[in-house]
Amino acid sequence: MTNFNPKELAALYLSADISDIWQASQSYAVIDHPSFGKISPNDYRAKYHQKPCPFCGQKMFHGKLAHSTNNKQEAIARGYEYLDKNGNKIINRAGNTYFHPHYVTLDHKLNKARCPERMFDSSNLQIMCWKCNNLKGDNNAYELQHNLNYLQDLAEETLHRYPLL
Ligand SMILES: [Zn+2]
Repeated sequence: MTNFNPKELAALYLSADISDIWQASQSYAVIDHPSFGKISPNDYRAKYHQKPCPFCGQKMFHGKLAHSTNNKQEAIARGYEYLDKNGNKIINRAGNTYFHPHYVTLDHKLNKARCPERMFDSSNLQIMCWKCNNLKGDNNAYELQHNLNYLQDLAEETLHRYPLL
């Protein structure tokens, strides 16, 4: 379980199979991280509890007991609801469980369905909150666009602060 051969992973082509392997591996030390060493996806996420999301800067949460609920009304009462990119109200959900909007997720920079051989490759993994992950969708250029938006905002703010003479 802890030793996946990237060549075997590359041979996977059904996204359901790829998802199954990812789900089944969550508690196993399948990632070789430069700082954390061999680590499971769950333990990797847990390290970012109460740390800021690198994309939106909001504090992230990890721990299903404290930061999820099976009751939709309770989820709404806790403020879990937010607007997606189309302006629709959504709540992060896995099965019948509703999660905090900034719950920690481990995202694949290159979609694991397209690049299964890099599913556990730490250079292909990045931490972000669930909301950012949702907004990212399957857009592999998200990080680039996000940085570009940030730079444009910064440029505008700088111009605003220091008007050209
Ligand atoms: Zn975020």
